[in-house]
Amino acid sequence: MFDFEAALKDIKNKGLNRELRNLETAQGPYSVIDGRRMLMMSSNNYLGLCNDIRLKRAAIESIRKFGVGAGGSRLTCGNFTLHRELEERLAGFKQAESSIIFGSGYAANIGAISGIADKSCVIFCDRLNHASIVDGIRLSGAKLVVYKHCDMDDLENKIIRYHTGRGLIATDGVFSMDGDIAPVDRIVKLAKKFNLMTMVDDAHATGVLGENGRGTLEYFGLKDDVDINVGTLSKAFGVEGGFVAGKRKLIDFLRHRAKSFIYSTALAPHNIAAAVEALNIIETGQQARKELAEKSIWLRSKLIKRCFDVPRGVTPIIPLMVGNVDTALKFSMLLYNEGIYIPAIRPPTVPKGTSRLRISLMASHSYDDMEFAVENLVRFGRKLGVIP
Ligand code: PMP
Repeated sequence: MFDFEAALKDIKNKGLNRELRNLETAQGPYSVIDGRRMLMMSSNNYLGLCNDIRLKRAAIESIRKFGVGAGGSRLTCGNFTLHRELEERLAGFKQAESSIIFGSGYAANIGAISGIADKSCVIFCDRLNHASIVDGIRLSGAKLVVYKHCDMDDLENKIIRYHTGRGLIATDGVFSMDGDIAPVDRIVKLAKKFNLMTMVDDAHATGVLGENGRGTLEYFGLKDDVDINVGTLSKAFGVEGGFVAGKRKLIDFLRHRAKSFIYSTALAPHNIAAAVEALNIIETGQQARKELAEKSIWLRSKLIKRCFDVPRGVTPIIPLMVGNVDTALKFSMLLYNEGIYIPAIRPPTVPKGTSRLRISLMASHSYDDMEFAVENLVRFGRKLGVIP
């Protein structure tokens, strides 16, 4: 039978065991973790909405009116008026005809891909795409063709080699462990040239990129050029859930075919009410977005100046490359002891030899917070030989 003990031992020996830390307060630039006040530099709560009073009020109001649970899947008894309202609002936000909400971004990806694709399809997938895209492809039975990260020549060569009938190019908008932006404009051009569908998972770009926070399409000045637009409510929105926006026909089809939508309990009404409020804030939140981008650029350049292997960029996901698993773990632990929470990201989440610290900024981090982090990153980076 399954030898879990041996498997766990192996995981531990490779330095890949994972501990769950316990948050004891709401999530902000500082949170209490396992009894200690820590500078939180690991959260996807980019705009600080997790603990925003306006979202909390909307959720509480909704709990008074609708209770705390949805009671069933949307297709049975869990479809509240709020769900429809949010779907209409999200469609408008993403400049799409329609949208459909899922229980999470993960569920949106696996539901959308396995809903539309089958073994007659080929799906071209960036090597660093999120696990839920890869799982969705596997679940669909489609042929999975992986192209080199953001490499349009490799993508084109692979399309020429493998594209036969129905096909899809799937990419993260902002890559979750690298913080770089997919060349969606060029992907769209290739898709048009070869008559392929496109899918962008904008989990980390929704609310963050583009003048109005619409994501990577807005960042590139594109409008409805992508067929399947995935977003999450769990990052900049500060709540939970995922969604797909696109043409009405596609969304209607997903309502009939996406199993993670059909067979899963709807998100609780208070979560949806808070998401509607988050969207109100995001749609008018140019200032917070601008600050977040400025801080991201500032921190990246500070770290580069101090000789860290950090890419330039505008997104709040900042990978600080370390390479070795043990060094990354030690680095993270030394920072933790100093009151800074920046986790080490290791295989299998990232490719072998690319272990890193993944810094994640929020608009609410101050320049002093970032200076404090840089000081300690330099101190321990030197100690561990990560920088000279
Ligand atoms: N896509 C990407 C690119 C992600 O980073 C994540 C979350 N880490 C997801 C999808 C899944 O979203 P959720 O957390 O809402 O399930």
